[in-house]
Amino acid sequence: MKKKIKLLLVGAMLILLSGCELQMEWIGPLLEAIAPEPSYEAVEGELNVWFLDVGQGDSEFILLPNGETLLIDAGESYAAPEIISFLDELNVEKLDYVIATHPHADHIGGMEEVLEQVEAECFYLPDQESDSETYQNLMEHLEEEEIPTETVSGGMRIAEGDGIVMDVLAPLQDNYSDVNDASVVLRLQYQEKSFLFTGDAQNESEEDMLLSGMDLSANVLKVGHHGSDTSTTRQFLRRVSPQYAVISCGEGNSYGHPKPVTLENLLSFSVTVYRTDQDGTIHFSTDGKNSMQIETEKESAE
Ligand SMILES: [Zn+2]
Ligand SMILES: [Zn+2]
Repeated sequence: MKKKIKLLLVGAMLILLSGCELQMEWIGPLLEAIAPEPSYEAVEGELNVWFLDVGQGDSEFILLPNGETLLIDAGESYAAPEIISFLDELNVEKLDYVIATHPHADHIGGMEEVLEQVEAECFYLPDQESDSETYQNLMEHLEEEEIPTETVSGGMRIAEGDGIVMDVLAPLQDNYSDVNDASVVLRLQYQEKSFLFTGDAQNESEEDMLLSGMDLSANVLKVGHHGSDTSTTRQFLRRVSPQYAVISCGEGNSYGHPKPVTLENLLSFSVTVYRTDQDGTIHFSTDGKNSMQIETEKESAE
């Protein structure tokens, strides 16, 4: 939607400019300034990971090298049409794995609508219920559609094979005082490359993961809780030791995400940071060995 508006505006400007009889060299740089159409093309046979720009919220879509698909979270309800058209563009007819990290609306708000459009094989969620209407409706939908659900916690392996390992690292307790800490944390490994998806896991959950002795290392870290200062401790960062970090947050969000201290910590560990509020949807693809390609929907703000 944003793109269309932008193109229309540029079109209007071109008409205005030609009306002013400006020279062509004035128009040239303007045309170059038009952001390229984002490519939602997958790199075949590789692990493809998209951090979708869903405003303030989280949603990640993963295409495994064997063609299987995984959706983690689905943003707020307003994000559903964007996610559906994205999946449509990639010709995704079925989601082999769907993970709802925790019951907050900025993670599961769009889920029911997405599942109405795209078939799901199995739905994974933490042992964390909610009274919210969004959560109750989603649970009803899963039951009505007979989508198998599985409650997961740290230490469980969701999938293994074809060079892929999907491990759940958290939650490691079922009585966290903050629902965010109940987030399912997934470590996805493809041969020598790995991604860590943390949902909104905060310091307490990070501490438990550190104490567990599990392998937390990842080339790409989805930063916990939209870059809030309640997540991403220096100890956690040291253990994950990422080269790249992705912060999923909405432009000008009212929470002030990401917090300066989070950005400073990432910078001090020399992590390259991508942000959905500045970069739009971010696409990683890797052959599991040496290559890691990154493509962003918008040109970097830098
Ligand atoms: Zn959240
Ligand atoms: Zn949350």
